[in-house]
Amino acid sequence: DPRTQAIASTIRVVPNFPKPGIMFQDITTLLLNPPVFKDTIDLFVERYTGKGISVVAGVEARGFIFGPPIALAIGAKFIPLRKPNKLPGEVMSEEYELEYGADCLEMHVGAVQAGERALVVDDLVATGGTLCAAIALLGDCKKLRIHVEGLRETDERAGAEVVECACVIELPELKGRERLNGKPLYILCMRL
Ligand code: IMP
Repeated sequence: DPRTQAIASTIRVVPNFPKPGIMFQDITTLLLNPPVFKDTIDLFVERYTGKGISVVAGVEARGFIFGPPIALAIGAKFIPLRKPNKLPGEVMSEEYELEYGADCLEMHVGAVQAGERALVVDDLVATGGTLCAAIALLGDCKKLRIHVEGLRETDERAGAEVVECACVIELPELKGRERLNGKPLYILCMRL
């Protein structure tokens, strides 16, 4: 699609951020260009309209920028998948590995019903660890956390069906696509 050229060209690359050796893909420059931002949302909306998707789950933080306009346009609800200890209610909680240490995504219990068809949205896929955790959280996760009681196992799973993951950018060298347990990944542009 010719629109992806302009999208790719408005994403700024910032060398050595947040640490030496990283070429940071900065989508804030895309957001400064309304026609290109609109094309970005439209491409996703064209793909997901009429696919029976009732849930768009956005990954903190930049999934909160792209997810809601897609959700509104396709008539789906929006669910924020947040970093630990941000959500006030009872949460499902899924840990994942980082290069150094671990992180966690959380989702409110009851936000999604079993059998709902979900789309996961983020700005970028690198190693795929974040999307892998998001897929698990919406589907099979059995870890529950209540703030006063801490983490415990539960018999309940959210039980949504993740139909696809959608990101603006893929870093294909990191092979994140292969970590998604067979879930399809749709991207608008690649960066080497
Ligand atoms: P992964 O889990 O290794 O696939 O990393 C993807 C997550 O890290 C996403 O939530 C991205 O927002 C973030 N991320 C990693 N590298 C970049 C980057 O260059 N630009 C913007 N976000 C990035």
